[in-house]
Amino acid sequence: MADLPALPPVNTSGKKLAVGWFSFTCSEDSTILFTELLNDHLEEWKKFVDFKYLKALKMNNQIEGLDVAFVEGAISSEKQAAELKRIRENAKVLVAIGSCACTGQPSATRNNLFDNEINYKVYWYFSHFDYSHEVKKLEDLVKVDEKVMGCPMNADSFIGTLARSLKTFNII
Ligand code: SF4
Repeated sequence: MADLPALPPVNTSGKKLAVGWFSFTCSEDSTILFTELLNDHLEEWKKFVDFKYLKALKMNNQIEGLDVAFVEGAISSEKQAAELKRIRENAKVLVAIGSCACTGQPSATRNNLFDNEINYKVYWYFSHFDYSHEVKKLEDLVKVDEKVMGCPMNADSFIGTLARSLKTFNII
């Protein structure tokens, strides 16, 4: 697996990359993969990265002033669409993580069901939860700056994106 390129032992830039990690409709496998990466790299990465929003691991989360928002999952309700737009407003760069965020699939599989294939179980979910008619990929709703493909995400691509961001924001 790729690693971040030769991180200096000490952060001399005086700043950290402000990062948020968000998850919408999906199996959250990329979140699991991300936490596995943190198992190996947290001590090294936290010198350079401020994980401001990471609900899987933190109680206190802050969405304001993000440099990079990593967003996993497809959008399946109006509430999620509003949350995604709020993330976009608060992040300089938005990265779609995994196939569901990048293409909608496989979370958007129900979009392809014909009316006669939508049985009473599916109708029950529609009537009891706040689901929109169609499941959408992130790009249908907001500008996406980068994509990390894969189901779950390709870990090397994710690390490459993180490394580029550290350079772009002059952290390293
Ligand atoms: S892209 Fe695959 S692994 Fe990621 S959330 Fe969707 S189904 Fe799960």
